[in-house]
Amino acid sequence: MTSLDPRAPLVLDTRELGRRPGSQREVTRQVEAPPELGIEVLHVPEGSPVEIDLRLEAVMEGVLVTGTATAALEGECVRCLEAIDDDVEVTFQELYLYDDHAPADGDGQEDEVNRLEDDLLDLEPLLRDAVVLALPFQPLCEDDCPGLCTECGARLADDPDHAHEAPIDPRWAGLAALTQDQHEPEQQQD
Ligand SMILES: [Zn+2]
Ligand SMILES: [Zn+2]
Repeated sequence: MTSLDPRAPLVLDTRELGRRPGSQREVTRQVEAPPELGIEVLHVPEGSPVEIDLRLEAVMEGVLVTGTATAALEGECVRCLEAIDDDVEVTFQELYLYDDHAPADGDGQEDEVNRLEDDLLDLEPLLRDAVVLALPFQPLCEDDCPGLCTECGARLADDPDHAHEAPIDPRWAGLAALTQDQHEPEQQQD
């Protein structure tokens, strides 16, 4: 009884290794990113390419997976909401036990053990964990992003000398934002 589909892009077939300790196989493939890979504010766009480069190595009790995955990231800065365009490379190493391998007595760790199913290996949970761990909890467009002006909402990184002589009257704030928008296209880059 297995729920894994051997043709699924993130399912790896380890049967070629023949359960012979020491036998190895290199796997390089490009897969489409599954949905919701990452965190809400920074993630791998669904369907975008994920490059996977792995070594599967049979050991006594299972198969050791070592490798890297690289993917593009898309998200927004938590301080100024600017779009973030980045990429991520994760490395992983994980042991998957054969499903008929008896658990060690009384180690109490059974919940944390990865198991092969019919000698198929599901890489997706490993990829998800590795990507999430590699991402910053608070992604920023640049390390010292100054965020948004608390008075008018302007992005301070675009305007480091930004200042208000007096607090803006909330009744005029909307109008001020409008005026600013109109002036933006005329700004010269120097
Ligand atoms: Zn920012
Ligand atoms: Zn302001």
